[in-house]
Amino acid sequence: MNLRLVDTSLSVNTLRKYGITLLISLIALGLAISLQQWMHGRTMFFLLSAVVISAYFFGISAGVFSALVSVILADYYLNEPLGQIVSTGEDIFFMLTFLVFSLGISWIEESRLRTERAMMASKAQLEVVLDSLDDGVTAQDLKGQTTLVNAAVARILGFPSVEKMMATPLEELQSMFALFNEAGETMPETELPSLAALTKGVGGEVTARLRFLKEGDKERWLTIRSKPVFDKDGKPVLAINVVRDITERYELDTLRRESQERLQKVLDNLAAFVGVLKPDGTLIEANRAALEAANLTADDVYNLPFEKTYWWSHSEAVQAQLRDAINRAARGEIVRYDVQVLVRDRRLITIDFMLAPVMDDAGKVEFLIPSGIDITERVRLTRLLATQRQQLETVLNNVPGIVWEGRGHPAESDHVIDFVSRYAPKILGYSVEEWRTTPGFWQKITQAEDLEGVTEGMRALLANGEPGTLEFRAVARNGEIVPIELHMAALRDADGALIGACGVVMDISTRKLAEEERARSALELARSNEELQQFAYVASHDLQEPLRMITSYLQLVERRYAEQLDDDGREFIGFAVDGASRLKALINDLLAYSRVQSQEKDFALLDVNRIYDQAIKNLEISIEETGAQITHDPLPEVMGGENLLTLLFQNLISNAIKYRREEAPTIHVGCNRQGREWHFTVRDNGVGIEPEYLERIFIIFQRLHSKDEYSGTGIGLAICKKVVERHDGRIWVESTVGQGSTFHFTIPAIRR
Ligand code: ADP
Repeated sequence: MNLRLVDTSLSVNTLRKYGITLLISLIALGLAISLQQWMHGRTMFFLLSAVVISAYFFGISAGVFSALVSVILADYYLNEPLGQIVSTGEDIFFMLTFLVFSLGISWIEESRLRTERAMMASKAQLEVVLDSLDDGVTAQDLKGQTTLVNAAVARILGFPSVEKMMATPLEELQSMFALFNEAGETMPETELPSLAALTKGVGGEVTARLRFLKEGDKERWLTIRSKPVFDKDGKPVLAINVVRDITERYELDTLRRESQERLQKVLDNLAAFVGVLKPDGTLIEANRAALEAANLTADDVYNLPFEKTYWWSHSEAVQAQLRDAINRAARGEIVRYDVQVLVRDRRLITIDFMLAPVMDDAGKVEFLIPSGIDITERVRLTRLLATQRQQLETVLNNVPGIVWEGRGHPAESDHVIDFVSRYAPKILGYSVEEWRTTPGFWQKITQAEDLEGVTEGMRALLANGEPGTLEFRAVARNGEIVPIELHMAALRDADGALIGACGVVMDISTRKLAEEERARSALELARSNEELQQFAYVASHDLQEPLRMITSYLQLVERRYAEQLDDDGREFIGFAVDGASRLKALINDLLAYSRVQSQEKDFALLDVNRIYDQAIKNLEISIEETGAQITHDPLPEVMGGENLLTLLFQNLISNAIKYRREEAPTIHVGCNRQGREWHFTVRDNGVGIEPEYLERIFIIFQRLHSKDEYSGTGIGLAICKKVVERHDGRIWVESTVGQGSTFHFTIPAIRR
């Protein structure tokens, strides 16, 4: 501190100064004269005292003035001869001695006075300076005594003045405040830098929180800086502490730091890659996403030219492109392009890259901000979409029909077709161009008679929401009438409002012809079937009567004329009777066959166990004769015709008995549920069937054996097939020659 010393002696009024000096000198002279006898000639003591007092209070000039006055008056009043000034050499010597002596004393006094005044002034100035400081200043001696406190300390602590503060007892002070460190822990005195200053003679600084315990724990942030003051031996004797209230700055710093941290967090948690470059392209920051994507740490890439970092290391062309981008951005341009960058595991991803300059207020580029978003997936999807679109178009263009898409309601005249597949000209003959440039195309090509129906149909179909089909006649370009089928679906926006329609147009003329043809044949077939049935029934029914006549007359001849006939005649009649009875069987079977179609139009719920029992009962005789063993699974209930199903079981079981081997037949009727149908089996251990005949045996009159081996008409299985088919089932056979056969058939299960 550089304090200017001020000569305060000049401030005393000069006249008053010399007046007082004169007065002092006169008093001293008076005292000297009056006390002459007792002082034994040492009266000079008074005069010298006057000089000293004058010099002491008013400086050297006053001292000299006093000495002059004193020496003259003393010579005049005290030195012999009295009443004379400088009368003898002795007088001169006395005067000179006195003057020199006084001068010396005055000079000493003067300098002492000056020093003293200077010190006082300096102290006063120091106090002023100290008190005008914003920082608190205290001094502390080795005993821990506070020897100096300025006003700022009181202010920081919330006292109106130093005096008030000093008047507060220590205990009270301690109950008012507490110091904490930055982490919020109580700060022991040993942590204060004043201790180190006093004990070790080193300065130091701490940041502390001053808590006002009585004011709701209000806090202020302080820095406390201490410096030692050494004595002449270099030992620390005093610690000067400077306390600065940094609350505002600290809070500002905290705010700034927090905002910076927040920003950093935002950057680090962005999915996008973000960094900061110096204008020359040196990377000085990269966010976490960017670093982690490539498994890098800041040290790997910071302070490198950006284009030389890992991300760009896969291609020189990419590096050159980036360098160029940096140069452009450094000139203030925003550069943006899609580019591939290298990430972890040497994988390449595509990013939407942008390099943007950040300018200062003067418009100078301060930084460059590179950023990128991973668009690999988007790029892949776009490409995929393009390929798929192409594929789709290829497919659409190769559909043997016109695939179309249009805007607006297709029943309105402002409907415009946007897309039509290349097949367009092949049906109706209109070019792709004509389809796409003719508004209300559907109305234009619909045949006049069908127009109303088509319009209504379209409205109903699109209102309904489901895709649907309309058939109508269209007028081709060459005037020909072509039946077409229009498949159509509505196109709606996100709110469900109709924005258009799409679909496929097919030429159905061939199908129409075929359909007509089919309908015609079906009708004919039904008619001829009917006729055939009628014929079979009539034939078999009407044939029975003459056959009965033939048989009975043959039997009459046999009975009556057997005696007259020779052996041959009897044998021939035997053949004729046999033929007639076989014809009877045939006619019966044929009748049964023809009845399958007409019998039992309404099916009922039947217990198959009962059907089975009936069939067995009908076969009682042959079962007994052959000793057949017949077993069965529990049988279900089905919807069917009672007589028909009895006939079915009866035929299959009787075949199983008939086509037996030497041993007694063993037959099992099985049944299990398979999905929506019952699966029945009739298994025997009979002669079996050659594989090539497995299908033929179900055809009417197809037999594998001669009438001599096994009697039969070849109608039984044909009847079975017909019965099963009338019940919406299937019938087939599996067989091994010499081991046996299994006949399978299905009947739909009733839905419960
Ligand atoms: P048929 O009146 O001749 O028995 P079917 O239509 O009932 O007429 O049978 C046709 C042919 O199928 C029979 O001639 C026989 O050769 C063969 N067949 C039918 N059932 C069996 C069976 N269980 N085992 C072996 N062959 C059989």
